[in-house]
Amino acid sequence: MADGSLIPTVRTACPYCGVGCGVSGQVAEGRALAVRGDTAHPANNGLLCSKGAALGATVGLEGRLLSPMINGREAGWTEAVGLVARKFSQAIARHGPDSVAFYVSGQILTEDYYVANKLMKGFIGSGNIDTNSRLCMASAVVAHKKAFGADLVPGCYEDLDLADLVVFSGHNAAWTHPVLFRRMEAARARGQRHVVIDPRRTDTAEVADLHLAIKPQTDVRLWNGLLADLIRRGAVDRGYIAAHVNGFAQVEAALCEADQSPTAVAADCGIATADVEAFFALFAATPRTVSLFSMGANQSTQGVAKGLSIINAHLATGRIGKPGACPFSITGQPNAMGGRETGGMANTLAGHMDFAPEDRARVARFWGAPDTADKPGLKAVDMFEAIHDGRIKAVWVMATNPAVSLPDASRVREALDRCPFVVVSDCVETDTTAFADVKLPALAWGEKDGTVTNSERRISRQRALFPAPGLARPDWRIIADVAGAMGFGDGFAWPSQASVFREWARLTAFENSDRLLNLAGLLDLTRSDYAALEPVQWPVTEGGVGTPRLFADGRFQTSDHRAVMVPVRPVDPVSACDPAYPLSLNTGRIRDQWHTMTRTGLAPDLWRHAPEPYVDLHPEDAAAVGVVEGGLTRIQTARGEAVAIARLTDRQRPGGLFMPMHWTDAFAPSGRSNPLIAANLDPVSGQPEYKHTPARVRPYRETWKGFLLSRQGHAPPKGLDLVWRRIPQTACDLYEFAGRGDEAERDALRRALGEPAGELLSYGDPATGARREAWVDRNRLERVLFMTSGGPLPPRSWLADLFEAADLPVDARATLLFGRPLGPVVDAGPMVCACLKIGARTIDAAIAAGAATPDAVGAITGAGTNCGSCRPELARMITIAREPAHAV
Ligand code: SF4
Repeated sequence: MADGSLIPTVRTACPYCGVGCGVSGQVAEGRALAVRGDTAHPANNGLLCSKGAALGATVGLEGRLLSPMINGREAGWTEAVGLVARKFSQAIARHGPDSVAFYVSGQILTEDYYVANKLMKGFIGSGNIDTNSRLCMASAVVAHKKAFGADLVPGCYEDLDLADLVVFSGHNAAWTHPVLFRRMEAARARGQRHVVIDPRRTDTAEVADLHLAIKPQTDVRLWNGLLADLIRRGAVDRGYIAAHVNGFAQVEAALCEADQSPTAVAADCGIATADVEAFFALFAATPRTVSLFSMGANQSTQGVAKGLSIINAHLATGRIGKPGACPFSITGQPNAMGGRETGGMANTLAGHMDFAPEDRARVARFWGAPDTADKPGLKAVDMFEAIHDGRIKAVWVMATNPAVSLPDASRVREALDRCPFVVVSDCVETDTTAFADVKLPALAWGEKDGTVTNSERRISRQRALFPAPGLARPDWRIIADVAGAMGFGDGFAWPSQASVFREWARLTAFENSDRLLNLAGLLDLTRSDYAALEPVQWPVTEGGVGTPRLFADGRFQTSDHRAVMVPVRPVDPVSACDPAYPLSLNTGRIRDQWHTMTRTGLAPDLWRHAPEPYVDLHPEDAAAVGVVEGGLTRIQTARGEAVAIARLTDRQRPGGLFMPMHWTDAFAPSGRSNPLIAANLDPVSGQPEYKHTPARVRPYRETWKGFLLSRQGHAPPKGLDLVWRRIPQTACDLYEFAGRGDEAERDALRRALGEPAGELLSYGDPATGARREAWVDRNRLERVLFMTSGGPLPPRSWLADLFEAADLPVDARATLLFGRPLGPVVDAGPMVCACLKIGARTIDAAIAAGAATPDAVGAITGAGTNCGSCRPELARMITIAREPAHAV
């Protein structure tokens, strides 16, 4: 359709992070999709970050599972569902209900979660369903339950606009929740202050008013010190405490066990006393304070204690339930909250009910399921350990990739390999589907239809833009079909997702006298009401009215309606004193990729900011072992080894390493971070410690390296011990590789790659080990292969761009084997603005020419003027340019 205005717009929600942005999508032809931010959605008011803006590039059918597969052969749904039901039923009959498990995901919809939980906990009768939200949010959940009586997020995004101070605790919002960060940038321009508590000088920290680069694991010490200081100053709200809070005296007594002076706190946290004093004074003086906490706090063996120490400071000052004041846990996934609500975690039942006898009886009564589980099941890491040692005989993994994302990922692969029966339902092939006996094709984003809940308890609709491809089905339908085949059909006979939602809403309201998670106002949605449902924050009262902020009346969900302050004591930091592994490895997310890249990996623009796995380290640590900027580097822990590009930066504390967690076998088999991580858990929440693993680095010392650009896809060559990366480009794939062998290894790689059709142009220089080859077929470039034993390699961008041409230009053909055009080459440098493809050198030139703000850089170069995700990086570049001391 030539006129875009004639194309219907579908309002849906982004599938990536917990901000939960509204997206307006228009499908032109086939699966061509144009997206923009939904201006009517309160979470983002029309903004999208780089990932959301690139959604249109991720909806192709490449790599999709489109038919059920049984042991590698296509099968029909009847056969596949029958087999799954039979295998699960057999395991249950022989070994009991706890011999089976579901491992599900914050990617599935609330309706899917509800049905999966009902089947496992209600009808199979085991608690063995856990979600990958265990890896992100479990510590915050426990902290909420201890302090508020239930897993309740007090605040809303409006609080981020209204706050005078935002404290980011282990939260690089500029990269992980970019649209929220842009809201806070706007508030900062109005005078809001930002304090960042993070061992790394992230983009969020770089532009903050104060950055506290604490030693890993010292968060509790800092927050306890803050609370002690608030008490000393008389800045706690004794009236609020008397009226609404228990436990203050116990917390105060526990604080007295240690020296809480700013000097002592600063020494233990490894930061300047003046910075500690500045933080304490700012917090004390700012009633409208929001304390955000995310993975940096939660993914820790002390995750629950960190969350409680933050909440304690807010309860003691009465900064909760008020505009612009709350502790605020931000979720990582689009529907982590939906899973927490519907009982996707092994230690809860649905509707914020637990395994207390009266709760369990209520849920069983509602479901008509007398065999409902009466005890919690196994949490994620323990679940895979039970698979490894044979206690679990059958597992169903839904929409997640534990072979990459769990700690000690090599052991998880062993577990899946040993498991007698593995089912994976997903929309794409992943590292985990490689272990599946049965693969079940699920709908992807853009095809699914249901609801998700974002970090501020806002329920939004994900709506279908495309018809279901192939034989793919909604997750809830697949689970209900298996339930039916297991003999539980009566409880799973919904005609639509709207009817699943209504049942879920009814459960939240069932015998509900005091549970805040209550969708009473959504019980009677008709199918068309459900289709048109506008974003709304629970609790939803009669008439469909939502609730932005909890606890405004000072009443909590405890038995006496008072909040609870819980004493938490810092444990000694797990020191990096092991001489074999003297550094501390921290892992996390990057700006333009999502999880294990199953979706964002399809958008070439999202690769430009960070094309290869990297490790950030301080120059002193690098120099000590001979690691150099840009060099391939081995990162070693007691669990394993990875290889990544070294980036030397003083944004990293001495002694600290940072590695992104996204890479998989499909893109960089030796660049995966999670095989390096030990499965150390918070003892209560079961959340793994991804933020501190003793580690060391060494140069990789390759003897040769090269790159390949090819229209044809290539898997890592079998039998060769190479560092191998695939980096999608617009019209081809780029492969970077390096090895430590001799000429024979290079020849073996060349043989493994095979020969494409076309004319071969080649050049070799035995002195430098250079080999350069290009294949041109009917004047179209098919492949370029460059290898060297020591000489330089040209930039890849000019060659990659040639693949976009229908015909190879004559002058380009003449210089193909030089890898550059005739005349001067403009190297834009590393990509900063992925949307408009603006590189660092272009931006540096604009700053040198006088651009002193991100807006000014944008006016000259265009960078940051589309989605705005790179604006924090622009601000950082400006800061660095003005303060040479920051530069390495
Ligand atoms: Fe999606 Fe970005 Fe919004 Fe997160 S911030 S929901 S990734 S558009």
